[in-house]
Amino acid sequence: MNQSRCRKMFMAALALGVTFFSVPVASQQQTPAPHANDTELLMLGTAGGPPLRKDRSEPATLLIVDGRPYLIDCGTGTIRRLVEAGIPSETIATIFFTHLHADHDVGLVDVMANDYFHLDLSSDARKISIYGPPETSELVEAAFHYISIPFELFAAEKPGFQLGRPNHGLTSPFVPHEIDGDGVVYHDDKIQITAAENSHYALMPAQFRAHFKSYSYRIQTPDGVVVFTGDTGPSEAVVKLAMGADVLVSEVEEGSDELRGFVDQMAARNHWPPARKQEFAAHMNQEHLTVDSLGELASKAQVQSVLFYHYDPENKAEQQDRVAGMKKYFHGEVLAPMDLDRFCLSKGDGQSEKAKFEPCGQKTADQE
Ligand SMILES: [Zn+2]
Ligand SMILES: [Zn+2]
Repeated sequence: MNQSRCRKMFMAALALGVTFFSVPVASQQQTPAPHANDTELLMLGTAGGPPLRKDRSEPATLLIVDGRPYLIDCGTGTIRRLVEAGIPSETIATIFFTHLHADHDVGLVDVMANDYFHLDLSSDARKISIYGPPETSELVEAAFHYISIPFELFAAEKPGFQLGRPNHGLTSPFVPHEIDGDGVVYHDDKIQITAAENSHYALMPAQFRAHFKSYSYRIQTPDGVVVFTGDTGPSEAVVKLAMGADVLVSEVEEGSDELRGFVDQMAARNHWPPARKQEFAAHMNQEHLTVDSLGELASKAQVQSVLFYHYDPENKAEQQDRVAGMKKYFHGEVLAPMDLDRFCLSKGDGQSEKAKFEPCGQKTADQE
């Protein structure tokens, strides 16, 4: 059935008050499901933010364990990248926020709208859990209220519709969970997640830092350990959390020298007084990771490999400079991805015991 005929039938069904109308999930998929018995990282958005870029979307990563997807952060553009990757967003039952800066969560409303549309269309009663720091509940409830306004218009054509009900009479399938401290914050039959508060809010007054929290996550999978820094500055808590991890997925700014030049440039362009310039320099050095800080962190934590994300190289040469900058401190593998790159983590061969982490598709025949 072509798309426009399908849409006409849907509208006709609504007009008739027919609420049962099913679109099988498989029909929305454009690419095969990820391999079972495998852990993959699909880089949906590798840029930092909030300024938007043409070539890289804002932070969002899909961790896929034995075919089950978990979304970590959800910046602007996440839904478009999911569509491009052939992943129906409503198949993601668990979402985690590292922190609630705009570049990490503003794309949630698009994902929720797409989820709601497909779940409602097929009368699917599944719930979608969303984990994050304090105020995640308010964020999720506000986002559902926002999408309830346009979806009310479909509901208005069904029998029994009434104006003025909470959330316009729609029932939310989204369940928020707030994480208010370090430790194990999630586990299921595939993964366990341990959170540690990082230093991304280091310059915030103490009473606000105690309320708003920014987390790094250590995720134990059947194939090895993946740590997401989220946004952070240098942090002993992150070193401890990441200790011995197979993969450190980390934000990375330019090297310390280049950063000084960037701060000078920003101050000149925006006519900042010295205090504003100092504030910005402190933010970049203490609340984010330069290549040098990340190199030291990765080396101290003795991780096996580092995968960049939340980074903004202007071009391929700058991208490679970041990798080269890391080599001064860290001797493991350093990978610098583009959006939609996929990486596979697989258990070691039993002799070395080390997990393998590499771009997917590089497996030899005996590893299949
Ligand atoms: Zn960020
Ligand atoms: Zn941030």
